[in-house]
Amino acid sequence: MQRQKYDVAVVGAGPAGTMAAKAIAERGHEVIILERRRAVGIPVQCGEFLPAGKEISDMFPHSPRMARLVEIPRRFTLNRTSRIRLVSPREHSYEFDFESNIIDRRRYDAHLAERAVEAGAELSLGFRVIARESKELLRVKSSSGVGTVSAKVIVGADGPVSLISRSIGNPYDRQDRDLSLSLHRVYSNADVDPRVVEMIFGGRAAPGGYGWTIPRGNREANVGIGVRKSMALGNAPLKSYLDYVVRRVPGRYSDAEVVRSVGALIPVGGPVAYTTRGNTVIVGDAAGHVMATNGGGIPTALCGGEMAGEAVSSHLENGTPLNRYDALWQSEFGTELRASLAALRLADRVMGSDSLTEVGMALMRARFLEPIIRCRLPLPSGMMSGAAVSVLRRLLG
Ligand SMILES: Cc1cc2nc3c(=O)[nH]c(=O)nc-3n(C[C@H](O)[C@H](O)[C@H](O)COP(=O)(O)OP(=O)(O)OC[C@H]3O[C@@H](n4cnc5c(N)ncnc54)[C@H](O)[C@@H]3O)c2cc1C
Repeated sequence: MQRQKYDVAVVGAGPAGTMAAKAIAERGHEVIILERRRAVGIPVQCGEFLPAGKEISDMFPHSPRMARLVEIPRRFTLNRTSRIRLVSPREHSYEFDFESNIIDRRRYDAHLAERAVEAGAELSLGFRVIARESKELLRVKSSSGVGTVSAKVIVGADGPVSLISRSIGNPYDRQDRDLSLSLHRVYSNADVDPRVVEMIFGGRAAPGGYGWTIPRGNREANVGIGVRKSMALGNAPLKSYLDYVVRRVPGRYSDAEVVRSVGALIPVGGPVAYTTRGNTVIVGDAAGHVMATNGGGIPTALCGGEMAGEAVSSHLENGTPLNRYDALWQSEFGTELRASLAALRLADRVMGSDSLTEVGMALMRARFLEPIIRCRLPLPSGMMSGAAVSVLRRLLG
């Protein structure tokens, strides 16, 4: 650490934190990024799936910047996929076109951090924030002991169980938050279709969430599950769901080897109550900025990080209220995050069991399932009312 007092302290060097730090440093402010890990982006806790710019423009029509931000340099792209296949509990498939880039998160996150440093941000690796002592003071632990860092503005970019978000009154108890527990493995020598991303539904694969197969190209696949505990029956270990997803297609992984295996959390309960309070702003997963129906949070982390950086800089320069950030994210992706959460709640009601999921998917088919994945409600407003849902339930017995 070069000094003890900064204009801004950003906690967390994921995409949200490094985007914010870069934007702040570019405007000439003194910014430090405190990251508990010793290397940015390791371990990778991600499916590495990033919708292509044209898909993002369709999904987030109110954001003029999101498509630009997801157009990442080609050297970080491992593979390109063109279809999404939704798989029902009884293995019926519903496919639609969807272009995406499968990215190398380890290298891409490191690149984002490098850009922030090039812009003038100070990156402190191996520095874990262990407490918020006061408005401007953070207690930080590193290999050289415990110290403090002080800053006029604090940016909480510290992921799904954010200490900074808790410090401004957002409930972050695991019981209170709708967190998807996930586990994934990367396999080499896997026999998967390199163009198709699969999402697998049902109680054996991922209660309340989905299993995924994401082809990383060159016969590599990222296979994972995201399970919401509130929707799971019994106490089956996460590994048993992942094993089901791996074994469901015989032969696919018979010659494959596990390259890595990682567990992590995905916050799918929607945005937190306060994304700005006092001298603090909350971005990315810490803010609950994740698309509830697909668990994707990279585009909103990049976008929200940049917006927070702009709002913090204007605040430091001319006293513009920090909550300009709230107005920015609400106008560019708030509607879509709300629609995605509503679609998830609807799916929870309609797809309460495997048989309901099977019939629900058969009734909706790709035409109505696709909008859910794209953060939209599946039918024009009003058509899927509470009454319609209960009629559907009764019909399905
Ligand atoms: C298994 C899994 C699969 C996913 N797949 C996809 C996908 O395919 N596509 C997609 O778009 N999104 C995906 N996501 C979501 C995506 O990874 C996140 O939305 C994204 O990383 C959010 O970025 P962030 O910067 O907010 O948080 P993070 O990337 O989580 O970064 C937070 C950083 O804060 C640091 N930190 C935490 N606490 C402290 C502390 N106290 N002190 C200092 N540092 C701290 C952490 O070490 C971490 O580096 C997935 C998530 C998971 C868990």
